This record gives sequence, C-alpha cells and structure tokens, in this order.
Amino acid sequence: MDELKNIAEKAQDIIITGHIKPDGDCVGACIAAYNYLHKFYPEKNINVYLKELPERFAFLDSNGKIISNKLPQCNPNLVMVFDSSSAAMLGEAVKLFRSAKDSVCIDHHISNKGYAKTNFIDVSASSTCEVLYNLMSEDDIDFKIAEALYIGIAFDTGVFRYSNTSRKTMEIAAKLMEKGIPFWDYIDKCFYQRTYIQAQLLGRTLLTSMLLMDGKCIFAVITRRMMEFYGASIEDTVGIIEQLRITKGVEVAILLYETGKQEYRVSLRSNKYVDVNKIAVYFGGGGHKKAAGFTMGGSVHDVVNNITEHIEAQI
Ligand code: AMP
Ligand code: MN
Ligand code: MN
Repeated sequence: MDELKNIAEKAQDIIITGHIKPDGDCVGACIAAYNYLHKFYPEKNINVYLKELPERFAFLDSNGKIISNKLPQCNPNLVMVFDSSSAAMLGEAVKLFRSAKDSVCIDHHISNKGYAKTNFIDVSASSTCEVLYNLMSEDDIDFKIAEALYIGIAFDTGVFRYSNTSRKTMEIAAKLMEKGIPFWDYIDKCFYQRTYIQAQLLGRTLLTSMLLMDGKCIFAVITRRMMEFYGASIEDTVGIIEQLRITKGVEVAILLYETGKQEYRVSLRSNKYVDVNKIAVYFGGGGHKKAAGFTMGGSVHDVVNNITEHIEAQI
C-alpha cells in the first residue's frame, strides 16, 4: 500500500485543507489528495475546506462538489494539511487541526518545523504536489488527479522556469502528461492569460515602482485606493511580483499590498543569492529561499526601511 492510502486507512472522518489565500499548489494538492482517497475509500467521509478558491483553478473542481468554503462541522479523526508552513497559515481551520486525533502535514517549505503529528516535508521538492505525487502509486493516478498535480507543480515552478525545477520535477510532469491532460491549454489559461483589469493593475504598479540599492532591489506598492479604482481583487495581483523580479539587474523584488490601515502584506522574491526566507521569518512570516512573505504594520516608508536593512546586510 502506498503512503497516502496508508495515512488515511484508519480514519473515517477526514478533513483536507491548506493555507489561507490558497494558490495553485495548495488547491492542486487538496484536490488531488481528495480524488485519490475518495476513489479508494468511497465509504469514508472526506471534506475539503479552503476559505476561497481562485477562479482560474476552479475548473479542477468542475462540479463544485469537492471544495467547501464553510468550515466542516464534524470531529475529524484525521486532518491533512497541504502546502502550509505553519499552523498559523491554516487560518480558521487551525481549530479543527488542533482538535483532531491525528494530523498529517504534506509540504515543501524550508520554514516548516513539522507541526503536525506526522510530517512529510521535502524541502528539495518543487512543490507540495511533487511531495504528494511521491506518496501515490503512479498506476492509480487518473486524469483528474494528474491535472491537479500538474497545475500545482506548474504553479510553484513558474511553469518549470524557477531553480526549484529539478530533473525529478520534469520526470513527474512527463508521467502526468502521459495521462492525456491538455497541459498547453492549462498553461495558457492558468498562467499567462490576464484580464484587462489585471493588465491595468500590473501596468500601474510597474509605473510607480522604484529602484533601490543601485538597482539591485525593486519595490512597489499596491494600495487599497488602486484596488478600488480598478475594481480589482487580491487574485488580480498574481504575477506582479514576478514581473518586478525579472527586471534586469535586480536581485530582490519587494511588493507591498495594503491590507488595512498601516498594514501591509509583503511579498519578497530573490534571483540568485539573497535568502528572503530568512528575512520573512525574522518578521514573523516564512516561505522559501527565493520566495517568501509576511505581514507588517507601519507606513510604507517604515516597512520598506525595515526590510531593506535586512536585504542590505545580505547584498
Ligand atoms: P507570496 O509572496 O504570498 O506568493 O508568498 C511566497 C511564499 O512565501 C509562499 O510559499 C508562501 O507560502 C510563503 N509565505 C507568504 N506569506 C507567509 C507568511 N505570513 N508566513 C509564512 N509563509 C508565508
Ligand atoms: Mn502555496
Ligand atoms: Mn507550494
């Protein structure tokens, strides 16, 4: 029996969940795990909870029957958490996580300390979907499972461009392609298409960005006013930090997203040598060496000054 079936074997009521502000890796892993376990254990009661489901990944749950945005009201024997570096990342599901008899965490974040009872953490994996694939039997992966895993891997590797893409990642992607998924269609729809609003918000953010530290650092802010002006939602900000990161000469990109009065969600990306996870952990967040985030109070000026001090120390 493979690990995944083994994990779920003894539990009757299972909850699957992931981090707040779920991304492609998180959604893909939750759906793939659900489909896999539901197929083998149709008698089990398996609930998938995610606070929200980004529109571009909604096709993974085509009947809308898998993911629920309401906290399940049950006493689970087992809570499985995906792509979440700490219990704090679980949002409201943390209560269920703490009350469950058993918990399993499947993840790939460096900052993950192994907060569940059983942990499958592989920091060398590109994505949680890659870790999850390794817990499944290749022959039991069907079209729907393959599509969800592929989306997760493609998401976290920036469509196989980032340095977290390994030979193993490509081999897994090849195996998933063999299941007949129209990957070219997914790649366009999920990763390259932009709505008009998204294009406008991207343009505006780039226009008002600033270079710091002799061009080694780029910084931009997305204010609530901008969001209101364009009628944009948080989902419309994806890809903006990426665009900042690929600016020639830049080592670190900083994107501030105003979440409240004097409060910002900070996204950090680095290109070669700066460890942004270290900086994020210092400020109470986390992530990976080259992609990390946290939330911070204060004015834009304060926030940027605080962060750049830590970047300067590494540059
Ligand atoms: P983002 O900039 O939001 O795309 O996040 C980049 C990476 O950092 C992702 O892998 C997130 O899971 C991680 N991350 C972002 N914010 C936090 C946080 N507050 N705590 C822990 N990890 C975070
Ligand atoms: Mn994630
Ligand atoms: Mn991930």
